[in-house]
Amino acid sequence: MTSKTIIVTGGTGAIGLSIARKFFETGCRVVILDLFQEKIDALTAEINNGNFTGFACDVTNENEIQMIFEKVFERHKSIDVLVNNAGLQHVAYVEEFPTEKFRMMLEVMLTAPFMAIKQALPYMKEKGFGRIINMASVNGLIGFAGKSAYNSAKHGLIGLTKVVALETAPYNITVNAICPGYVDTPLVRNQLQDIAQTRNLPLEKVLEEVIFPLVPQKRLLDPAEIANYVYFLSDDLARGITGQALVIDGGYTAQ
Ligand code: NAD
Repeated sequence: MTSKTIIVTGGTGAIGLSIARKFFETGCRVVILDLFQEKIDALTAEINNGNFTGFACDVTNENEIQMIFEKVFERHKSIDVLVNNAGLQHVAYVEEFPTEKFRMMLEVMLTAPFMAIKQALPYMKEKGFGRIINMASVNGLIGFAGKSAYNSAKHGLIGLTKVVALETAPYNITVNAICPGYVDTPLVRNQLQDIAQTRNLPLEKVLEEVIFPLVPQKRLLDPAEIANYVYFLSDDLARGITGQALVIDGGYTAQ
């Protein structure tokens, strides 16, 4: 994988950054895209290496994506791996779910991956190599009350994954979705904290009583486990895997 160029959207977030670090540590050129310039500047300053760069970018803006991909290709001469990872959560039952929020979440987690894939494919085809990994979720496979927008977007993202995999199969490009269960990230810890407050329970009790009964391994996943999976799928060893929704969930969906 050395000297490959990888673009990670949502790259300052917990899972995105773990993916970015994994690829950087193994000699790849990493470009992170995320909303806030200060966070990107802080990370790139900390790592201080020309092979770890980033752009402030709203992934729902196709012009921005197009311009950034042009710059990345100009600089690194390839776009080998695209990880569509940017995402967000909002939990409310359908009748209380703001329609604008529903639209926005589909834009970020479904339309934006479509646009990024569309912009990346010509570069991948030119080089005869490409790996596209879409960060779905177990919520792309099963329902969860209160998560209508998130689950709709993630189910759709798996559909998109299959279609693009079929369209790109002749070009040495693979397209897969990863479906994590609960990962130990601020996004999940905040949700647990909310449940803890509502139920007047300590956080550890929420894990024991609400989350662990759902997860046979009785633990949260580490972001590094997701990063390792993305890394494996990007390698030549995984060239036969395409169009799949690959689950990493501690056994959650086996039940
Ligand atoms: P996170 O909140 O730490 O990271 C998400 C990142 O996406 C943030 O940095 C955010 O700024 C960025 N983002 C949001 N909207 C954006 C936009 N319009 N343009 C550019 N960037 C934008 O969350 P995370 O836990 O690291 O989640 C990363 C991905 O993994 C998400 O797609 C999430 O749905 C998925 N996922 C997470 C878990 C989990 O347990 N944390 C489980 C399954 C799937």
